[in-house]
Amino acid sequence: MQEERIHLMGMDPVGLSEFVIDQGEPEFRARQLFKGIHQRRLESFEDFTDISKSFRERLSVIACLRTLNLVQRFVSNDGTRRYLFSTANGNPVETVFIPTRKRDTICFSSQSGCALNCDFCLTAKLGFLQNLSPGEIVEQIIYVLNDVYGIAKEMPHGTNLVAMGAGEPFNNFENLLKAVSIMKREDGLFIVPGRITVSTVGIVPKIYEFAKLNGRPHLAISLSAPNDELRNRLMPINKRWNIDDLMNAAAAFQNSLKQGERLTFEYVLLAGINDMDRHAAELASLLKRYGLDRVKINLIPHNSAEPLEYSPPSAERVAAFKQTLETSGVSAYVRKARGHDIFAACGQLAAFDPGEALAEVV
Ligand code: SAH
Repeated sequence: MQEERIHLMGMDPVGLSEFVIDQGEPEFRARQLFKGIHQRRLESFEDFTDISKSFRERLSVIACLRTLNLVQRFVSNDGTRRYLFSTANGNPVETVFIPTRKRDTICFSSQSGCALNCDFCLTAKLGFLQNLSPGEIVEQIIYVLNDVYGIAKEMPHGTNLVAMGAGEPFNNFENLLKAVSIMKREDGLFIVPGRITVSTVGIVPKIYEFAKLNGRPHLAISLSAPNDELRNRLMPINKRWNIDDLMNAAAAFQNSLKQGERLTFEYVLLAGINDMDRHAAELASLLKRYGLDRVKINLIPHNSAEPLEYSPPSAERVAAFKQTLETSGVSAYVRKARGHDIFAACGQLAAFDPGEALAEVV
């Protein structure tokens, strides 16, 4: 049974050493395994040709390299790919590959489903299903790299990772950090934390903890409203930690920024709800009040889908909102939706298999 096998992908070299020693093998096998899994991204124990045949055979009985099963892969007309996997216990996991001319980005999930219930997000409709293990997090990235660039092929320098798929990374903090520590290793994927961005809905105590970490990834905070009244309506988490709590945490985080690094705020633009110039002005003065001057705002026009009751503002409204921020000295960027036709864009990951819907779009 696959579920009972040991998933080697979530183990660091220390864990792998214990594992091989338990198996009566010399310790250097751990390094061979780690490199084979993460640097060469091998998909089958047969391909670990530097390991004895008898141990390879034993490994294929007691251990596994994959636990996620690919259910379906969707390719957008803009080149974006969405991968829908299923965990060993049948929960959906989604990962998105986003190519751009300059660099590629992989957007991975930290949980299956999501507990936060943001009113404008389709993932919320799944509810919370499970935390992903470190192995299930790393596996998403390795699967995509092999699909896009080929097994054992080098990935282009500068491929970025964003923890912006389904779930709340800071509610699966330990597993996320373990996955990051595995992925950054030079003898592995070698994706350094400076190329990783973690996005949080605003789990305030974790923002303070994250700020203190050495060699941490970048941080993005999903804000989406400039005052408590509006944010309470859109994002239930605001009732637990309000904007004052969040801005104090953001200010503490700002003190941990490296030279040239900025803290990102994401702001989903919802037509007629939070997209007026007065909201932009309120947002700018909020940031100012907390001394947040090393930040940038990513404006994300809402990606609509049934049954969400929101729509994106017009392009003119988006431009005016951005202009108001910039006039107040706040850097703002409009995020272009990618993979909208295959339900791969922000807030659209809901394990949706758009068999028929897709046929309508294409
Ligand atoms: N739970 C984390 C990680 C998910 S990141 C967080 O909330 O930050 C996903 C981003 O997409 C968040 O910034 C969220 O606000 C945004 N989002 C959610 N639904 C959306 C939608 N329908 N259209 C555009 N952006 C959306």
